[in-house]
Amino acid sequence: FLEINELKKSFGSGDYKVDVLKGISFGVEKGEMCVLLGPSGSGKSTLLNIIGGIDSADSGYISINGEKTADMKEKELTYYRRKHLGYVFQMYNLIPNLNVKENIEVGAYLSDNPLEIDDLLKTLGLYEHRHKLPNQLSGGQQQRTAIGRAIVKNPDILLCDEPTGALDYNTSKEILKLIENVNKKYGNTVIMVTHNDAIKNMADKVIKLKDGKIRDSFENKNKVSASDLDW
Ligand code: ATP
Ligand code: MG
Repeated sequence: FLEINELKKSFGSGDYKVDVLKGISFGVEKGEMCVLLGPSGSGKSTLLNIIGGIDSADSGYISINGEKTADMKEKELTYYRRKHLGYVFQMYNLIPNLNVKENIEVGAYLSDNPLEIDDLLKTLGLYEHRHKLPNQLSGGQQQRTAIGRAIVKNPDILLCDEPTGALDYNTSKEILKLIENVNKKYGNTVIMVTHNDAIKNMADKVIKLKDGKIRDSFENKNKVSASDLDW
């Protein structure tokens, strides 16, 4: 479904050139929960940004349903991003003067088949909070709103970069349960970046990056529910 082939990426030039991705290849099946692990600076965000079309690779390619994103024209790429990708960041990046419901509705912009908003608000546990502004919410509620904004268009692929990075233990587990729930309920393929090793246990597929290369990748045979994770 999603194929990543020999991706390479460097930043800078001359003496300051850093090779961040040194030939990364892997595939992700439709509906799979894929967890991308690796130490700080190993290139996780760079890889996610290239998959998300926010950044481009120096060489190699990404194909979705057999179509290479590099072969797409600017307009098609924008279309692909808007319709098929949802992005969740460590910082929630909500719009401060819009309430919860309105922030989520922003994500439905241009989608042909957005999820039913009240149903989604209930799945997210935000229905009672739907009229609140971001500064009236806890960190976990803000992240749930950000997840809502990313999934309301029912994207094929949900990219999450350290979605629990700014949250405490209990709230992190709540967010992981929500991501699991969304993956099961709506069938979106999830690629989640984390440096928390325990999170690999809830994945179908685990990819470990180190120094810009895949150090290990495996199918997780003993997948556990997010509620049973511990660290
Ligand atoms: P973390 O766990 O800390 O988020 P990461 O695995 O996500 O780390 P990246 O953000 O992908 O790491 O960065 C990988 C390397 O690329 C780092 O050495 C970083 O300094 C460098 N890098 C990332 N973006 C840029 C950029 N725009 N310009 C120059 N160097 C960059
Ligand atoms: Mg990062």
